[in-house]
Amino acid sequence: MRFCDLIIKKRNGLKLDQKEIDYAIKEFDESIIPDYQMSAMLMAIYFQGMDINEIKYLTMAMVNSGKTIDLSSISGIKVDKHSTGGVGDTTTLALAPMVAAAGVPVAKMSGRGLGHTGGTIDKLESIEGFKTKLSLNKFINVVKKVGGSIISPTSDLAPADKKLYALRDVTGTIDSIPLIVGSIMSKKLAAGADAIVLDVTTGSGAFMQEYKDALKLGKIMVDIGLELGKETVAVISNMDEPLGFAIGNSLEVKEAIEVLKNRGPEDLRDLCLVLGAHMLKLGGAIRNYEEGKNRLEKILKEGTAFDKFKEMITAQGGNPEIADKPELLPLAKHCNKIKADISGYIQKIDSRLIGESAMLLGAGREKKGSEIDLSVGIILKKKVGNKVNINEDLAEVYYNNSEKLKEAKKKLLSSFVIGNKKPQKLPLILATISKEGIKEWGTA
Ligand code: URA
Ligand code: CA
Repeated sequence: MRFCDLIIKKRNGLKLDQKEIDYAIKEFDESIIPDYQMSAMLMAIYFQGMDINEIKYLTMAMVNSGKTIDLSSISGIKVDKHSTGGVGDTTTLALAPMVAAAGVPVAKMSGRGLGHTGGTIDKLESIEGFKTKLSLNKFINVVKKVGGSIISPTSDLAPADKKLYALRDVTGTIDSIPLIVGSIMSKKLAAGADAIVLDVTTGSGAFMQEYKDALKLGKIMVDIGLELGKETVAVISNMDEPLGFAIGNSLEVKEAIEVLKNRGPEDLRDLCLVLGAHMLKLGGAIRNYEEGKNRLEKILKEGTAFDKFKEMITAQGGNPEIADKPELLPLAKHCNKIKADISGYIQKIDSRLIGESAMLLGAGREKKGSEIDLSVGIILKKKVGNKVNINEDLAEVYYNNSEKLKEAKKKLLSSFVIGNKKPQKLPLILATISKEGIKEWGTA
């Protein structure tokens, strides 16, 4: 097989078969196919797309580039959760203990933040002593003992995706639906869970800024999951403004603790309840979605999810005291505020700009591997629909280094759009996709 012929085939809009896709991924992973040829292939896929069979072969080829984790020694149905990325999205930190407290085992591998989006593993590292790297054995033992564990992926988990993603990142081919599906689903499948709940975000801070693209992405991910034998549910959630009030690693841990204390921002709490209810249903713990939501509300009220969070921290070497005393978490030395320059209603808060502003403060990485400052970030004082008076606070900026403060504040201020009329706010959950079909918001 000549790889150049496959590039031409895809460029001309023809379909690749399983043998061809296996060959491409294997030889690229072994560095036999050079980056420049794979770059051309990625761009051909970007423009020509892939059908469901090609995406399935791509996903499987990437799974097979590494090891699949065997979670079968953990009893019960293991349900994984994945978000396509958001700003200020602290869901996993609150959700994992909630679901574990309801008796469904959570064995989760999470990523680090890149660009304007944050990552669960970075957030967890703001907890003193918390180990995000555990051996597979230890990881499985923590899940067996405590009911939940979150670690960073082992290096043999879909290694071809890592290589391919790095190339996509520098060739303008990140936002291709078949490539995103292959990337996310290969990692989820290799991570060994029995069922998967996906949070597909849409809006300014998301990969899929348009709702119809997010719906398409969610539908294909669910189809691929089902085709490959995993029950899969996707919700399309609105990320047109950041989730909750906090953006930044230790600030978001604090916010997750608020949710676990049965308080916390309404949108973050709601998203945890929705995703959690689906996880409980796929995990076989409850009969229907409503029952799942009720169960989780009860768990939050009774404090069992909060206790579970402390158990999870202890099991991974962290200091559980931070849950009772969040002031023990690292906090930046300085705080500055941005204020409204006119009165009105908040029309829009551009999540991407907020994420970029947090990145300038040091909360995020511009490049893979850059150092980040876990203690810095932003606290929103207003959300979309809120009324604001001139000179009233819009947000607080926590920082250590004033070098990029001015630029960060400027970006932050530009993310707020203020107008006269109270805006119509879209609901948080825009659609749910499962094997039963698609349920869109506003339809029966
Ligand atoms: N997240 C991933 O892991 N991969 C993608 O391609 C996009 C988002
Ligand atoms: Ca948040």
